[in-house]
Amino acid sequence: MAGEFELISKYFAKQKLKRSDVELSQGDDCALLVSPPDTQIAVSTDSLVAGTHFLENANPKWVGHKALASNISDLAAMGAEPAWVSMAISLPEPDEQWLEGFCEGFFSLADSHNLQLIGGDTTRGPLSITLTIHGFVPDKQALLRSGAKVGDKVFVSGSLGDSHAGLEVILDEDKRLLPNASELERRHYCASSRASLGMLLRGKASSCIDISDGLISDIKHIMERSNVGADLHCDKLPVSQELVKFCESKQTAQSYALKSGEEYELCFTVPQHLIESVRLAAKNEGVQVTEVGEITDSQTLKLFRNNKALQENVAGFDHFRA
Ligand code: ADP
Ligand code: MG
Repeated sequence: MAGEFELISKYFAKQKLKRSDVELSQGDDCALLVSPPDTQIAVSTDSLVAGTHFLENANPKWVGHKALASNISDLAAMGAEPAWVSMAISLPEPDEQWLEGFCEGFFSLADSHNLQLIGGDTTRGPLSITLTIHGFVPDKQALLRSGAKVGDKVFVSGSLGDSHAGLEVILDEDKRLLPNASELERRHYCASSRASLGMLLRGKASSCIDISDGLISDIKHIMERSNVGADLHCDKLPVSQELVKFCESKQTAQSYALKSGEEYELCFTVPQHLIESVRLAAKNEGVQVTEVGEITDSQTLKLFRNNKALQENVAGFDHFRA
C-alpha cells in the first residue's frame, strides 16, 4: 500500500506547469512565491466533503474538476486571474484508482488556467478536499459585492438550473429515467469556468458574485452589501434546452434557475452606460450574458413573471438551514 510521501510524489507533484512567479513549489516546508507589482492577491478557500458536496461513489474525475471549479469561481467573482493553489486532502485509504481520476479532473482544469499546485497536506480521514486558491487583480480593480447602485441592471452568465436538476438525478433514482438525466448529472459536477468573464468585467461591473447557493440567495448578498433592493424577472432567466426537456416546461426550468446552487455562473450588476461594452466583451469571449433584472431602492427582492409580481419567495441553499 502506498505511503503518504509516495502518494504525494506520484499524484500531487507531477504537474508539468511551471510559472515564473513560483520560485519554489512542493517539496519543502513552504512554497516561495513572487507577487507581481501593483497587484493585489485575491485568496479564497473552499472545501468539498464527501456526503455533503458529492457522493462517495461519484466519478472521481468530476470530483477533481468540481473541487477546483468552485475555487476558481470565487476568483472569477472578484475579477482575479488564477495563479496558485494549495490542497489539503484527507482520504480514508490510499485508493489509487480514485486518485488517478481525481488528479485527471483537477489538473486538466488547473492547466487550462495556467494555475499551479504549489503545496498542500495529505492525511488519512473521511474523504474531503480543501483548496486555497490565489489570484491576481490590479490594484483597486477587484469586483466587490458592495458596489451595486439603484438603476444598474442585473446580469447572469451562462444558463442556470442544470446543477439543481443534476442533483435531483443523483439523489432520486426515478429521475434517472427523465430526458437528459445523465448530461444534467455531469453538469452538476462539471461547471463552466467564468474566470475570463470575471477579468473582463473589471471596470465595468459595479458588483459581482458567483452563484454557489442559488440566484435568490446570492443576489441577496449583493443587496445586503450594497444596501439596495432588486427586481428579478423570472421569465428572462436563461435555461438550457436540456433542462426544459427534463422539466417538461420552460416555466418549471426557470423556477429551478432561481434556486439552483453550485452553478458557478456569475451574477453581476452593470450601470446603464456600460451595458453595451459588457455585451460586446462577453460576445468576443464567447460567453452568454443575460439581463434578468434591475437594482432598486426598495431594500427587498421582488420576483416578476411577464411583468406581474409573484408572491412566491423561494429560499436559496443554506448548509445549516436545509
Ligand atoms: P510538512 O510535514 O513539512 O508539513 P508534508 O509532509 O505535509 O510537509 O508535505 C511534504 C510536501 O508535499 C510539502 O511541500 C507539501 O506542500 C507537499 N504536499 C503534501 N500534500 C500535498 C497535496 N495534496 N498537494 C500538493 N502538495 C502536497
Ligand atoms: Mg504537513
